[in-house]
Amino acid sequence: MLKFALAGNPNCGKTTLFNNLTGSTAHVGNWPGVTVDKKEGVYKKCAEPIKIIDLPGIYSLSPYTPEEVISRNYILEEKPDCVINVVDATNLERNLYLTTQIMEIDVPVVIALNMMDAVTKRGDRIDAKKLEEKTGIPVVSVSALKNQGLDELMKRGYEASKTPRKGKTVLEGGALAHLIKDCRIALEGQGVENALFHAVKLVETDELEVKSHPASKAMVDEFKKTFKDNTFGDDFEAVVADGRYKYITQNYSSVMVREKTKKEKLNRSDKADKVLTHKIWGIPVFLLILFAIFHLTFSENLLFIGAALPEGWVSLEGTAAEGLFGTEGIASPGVFLTNLLGLATDSITAAVQSAMEAGEVASWATGLVCDGMLGGLFAVVGFLPQILVLFLFFSILEDSGYMARVAFILDRLFRKFGLSGRAFMPMIMGFGCSVPATINTRTLADKNERISTIRVIPFFSCGAKLPILTAIAGGIGVAFGLPNTDIVTYGMYVLGITVAIVCVLLMRSTTMKGDVPPFIMELPAYHLPQPKNLMLHLWDKTKHFVKKAFTIILASTIVVWVISHFSFGWEFLEDTEIDRSILAGIGQLIQPVFTPMGFGSQLGAFGWVFAVAAITGLIAKENVIATFGTLAACIVGAVIDVETDGGIAAAGAMIAATGITVPALISFIAFNMLTIPCFAAVATAKAELPTKKSFNFTLLFWLGTSYAVSTVIYLIGSWWWTVFIVAAVLAAVVVLIVLYNKGKINFSALKFKKKARIK
Ligand code: GDP
Ligand code: MG
Repeated sequence: MLKFALAGNPNCGKTTLFNNLTGSTAHVGNWPGVTVDKKEGVYKKCAEPIKIIDLPGIYSLSPYTPEEVISRNYILEEKPDCVINVVDATNLERNLYLTTQIMEIDVPVVIALNMMDAVTKRGDRIDAKKLEEKTGIPVVSVSALKNQGLDELMKRGYEASKTPRKGKTVLEGGALAHLIKDCRIALEGQGVENALFHAVKLVETDELEVKSHPASKAMVDEFKKTFKDNTFGDDFEAVVADGRYKYITQNYSSVMVREKTKKEKLNRSDKADKVLTHKIWGIPVFLLILFAIFHLTFSENLLFIGAALPEGWVSLEGTAAEGLFGTEGIASPGVFLTNLLGLATDSITAAVQSAMEAGEVASWATGLVCDGMLGGLFAVVGFLPQILVLFLFFSILEDSGYMARVAFILDRLFRKFGLSGRAFMPMIMGFGCSVPATINTRTLADKNERISTIRVIPFFSCGAKLPILTAIAGGIGVAFGLPNTDIVTYGMYVLGITVAIVCVLLMRSTTMKGDVPPFIMELPAYHLPQPKNLMLHLWDKTKHFVKKAFTIILASTIVVWVISHFSFGWEFLEDTEIDRSILAGIGQLIQPVFTPMGFGSQLGAFGWVFAVAAITGLIAKENVIATFGTLAACIVGAVIDVETDGGIAAAGAMIAATGITVPALISFIAFNMLTIPCFAAVATAKAELPTKKSFNFTLLFWLGTSYAVSTVIYLIGSWWWTVFIVAAVLAAVVVLIVLYNKGKINFSALKFKKKARIK
């Protein structure tokens, strides 16, 4: 099959183009660096099917970060039949910088002049024909967003792929022409492929190039001796870059006709930036926006107007819709949708139950299906609306271009923690799912910055942990009669972020030191979020969630139900006999481990359910609440009498039955949030971390951090005076770190001494 690669600057619309050409739904974001791995799809409207590869965005072919290396190596080594160079036409000159480098490779190229809709809208014109004449490469005006010109683009690409193309350089008219030519001829003599490209890179003293052709470097250095530039001396990288830019400004300014009235448009973006990226107000504004988002997703008392409402304002009492709109105040959209879905799942369970009972199905089967499977599944599925609402807001922020600015605002702050603003993107992605977030850390150039970021990503509580936060917070409300428990939910998100910051600070000042490279990123213009993009994001999330619910989570609930209804002697147990089950046995065995955190041996009857839930969470975090849902019927039957539909009610039942305290519950949430993430996230971290040792240490780090933080929460929450002990321990740790940094203690020397003693 023919292979076409999409190459271009970050944020020029490659993924949008890719999606429209192949009918895929890859993630599109108004943020440079969203695609960090190559993606493949097939275009079928030409004479033969064509495989399309979406490469990570690059500004040049001299890469610094791992994702940029992917793009360069692909073009050079995999030899696509054609490179589609996607060019953001609203930023023509800067984008052509990359074009001048791609041109140097011996590969057919077409230029996709993208975002032409935006160019036309602001009244500018670009002469594609002229550009084609000047570059000698086919140029097609397209709009990936509006799906215009794509077939024409592919047609020209298909034609181009049929004839081999020799590389050409724009530097041949300049001062370096001789030097490049000599190198090229020498390399050709050695039978090197893409001699021109490698010659230019050698002249530039490109790092990758020098590493892979050390012998040629000596030769080029010999040639270089005879050359000296007046402005740049022997900084050949600068000489080459200057050559390219000079060529672009001299030759392509005539291609673009600018409209004079552009000013007004710019002003609007600038005005918004005056507030949103303000030096002092930028961060508070961001925090306020975050608070508003969480409030709209989780609050049961929107805008806190509950207090202003007359007592018993809900006239729905006693009806099926009671509590749909809220009982304390007005429910936020997230809670409202959750309640709505709850009504649906409740009636499904009720219908299935009565049908099975009417059909005189064996009571164990009814129990397995209704309490076990549906109870567990619906406890989690109920939170899908809140997950979607949260991500809708995040997608809007991202697509509008605001998130990219937040990275800039935070860059100054992040630097104090030893990170660059670039690390913000993987972190914010972590609120969705740790897996793509971990992969996204490839945009970080410093190895140690990358390792530290990968380690703290799970602390940015992901969508799967949302049911834990919300259900336990709600359960606290149900069991202790507390209002506004959504504050607990925000609090836990903030806790996760705080722990992440502290850990990064610790790592970057001890074992994970390194430079923070300067953060250079072009700010995309603000634009209205595209409903199509937003829907794609949400659809992706829903698909993923539903798939997970009906595979991993459903399977886990069945296993949990079965081992909670059989004894070790394989005797079937009634709901009320759960304390004799296999599950109870396992739970009681591991329970003591959790005692320091408040949900171990100190709990009364059924206290082991918390230990069991934490373990099932290692498979998928949703399992924590699904396990409660599955076990709720037994617990309720055995000790207490409450309603058990849905995740919140199930958590409430567990709390009432076990007599767990509020500090222990908060510690339970913190433990599940900070400990080893699910299987998928662990596997990704393993693949992305550079060494086995760093991965093993990461596992220990997750376990240790969650254990320590939860224990501290439980201790201080239960006995306030323990705060002094905790403070003393923390102070000791800080002193140790300071001493270590000053070279006063040497841990490796300690190790050495131990070894000596053993001898
Ligand atoms: P990539 O980083 O190159 O993969 O770029 P994306 O495909 O993620 O797109 C970046 C942004 O540009 C998104 O907000 C898109 O909606 C927007 N975009 C992409 N193509 C076009 C286009 O043809 N016209 C306009 N106006 N916007 C576009
Ligand atoms: Mg992309």
